[in-house]
Amino acid sequence: MQFLARLRSKYLKLMDGKYGLDTLGKDMFILWFIIGFVNNLLRNRIVTLVSLLLPLFAGLRMLSTSFYKRSSENRKYLKIKGDSSEFFKIQYKRIKEYKTHRYYKCKNCSSYIRVKRKKGEHYVDCPKCGKEFKVKIR
Ligand SMILES: [Zn+2]
Repeated sequence: MQFLARLRSKYLKLMDGKYGLDTLGKDMFILWFIIGFVNNLLRNRIVTLVSLLLPLFAGLRMLSTSFYKRSSENRKYLKIKGDSSEFFKIQYKRIKEYKTHRYYKCKNCSSYIRVKRKKGEHYVDCPKCGKEFKVKIR
């Protein structure tokens, strides 16, 4: 236990004033493990070398003292990650509710609108921006 406590205090001293681990860093490590697992089957040397850049960058980001730059990178990453997960959720719902609903993208604010599947032309109001537009359901 003495050893672990000493190791912990050394780690805390090292990380003092450093940026540390954020979501982007964690996901870089996770991606590195996934690539490593897949590459265990493929055994490609180039993939191995390129994938080593991930923990290297993640480690350098952790030790960085430029908090503003690192957190702005993390914010950009979180936005991209959130947008793509939203897109996949909508696609999943689109397939699941194919028989009962249709999904349309608002031309004004590009948010998704769920419309009950009823044959014919309908006027729909966007719940986000309030703009009305026509949809045709066959
Ligand atoms: Zn809208």
